Amino acid sequence: MTERPSNQQATKPRKNRKADDTPKPCPECGCPDVCLDSSSIAEATWIDCSNCDFHYQQKCCEESMLTRWNKLDRSAMPAFGEAE
Ligand SMILES: [Zn+2]
Repeated sequence: MTERPSNQQATKPRKNRKADDTPKPCPECGCPDVCLDSSSIAEATWIDCSNCDFHYQQKCCEESMLTRWNKLDRSAMPAFGEAE
């Protein structure tokens, strides 16, 4: 019996960064240290892995980028730090 109060806000505060906005680890190496960046000039947003050379770039805003990034297939993602 889990009560779930429907307190989901209808409006999303744009600058309210929570855990949901944290990028998931790199799908290539499992490194949690990834860098989200964007360029308004290039109209692109990308995420770079600080451990391997994985680079994921899309033409979208950072919010969409996070959603897409976090939806990437991580079924083959290695456990970071365990591989020698
Ligand atoms: Zn990586």
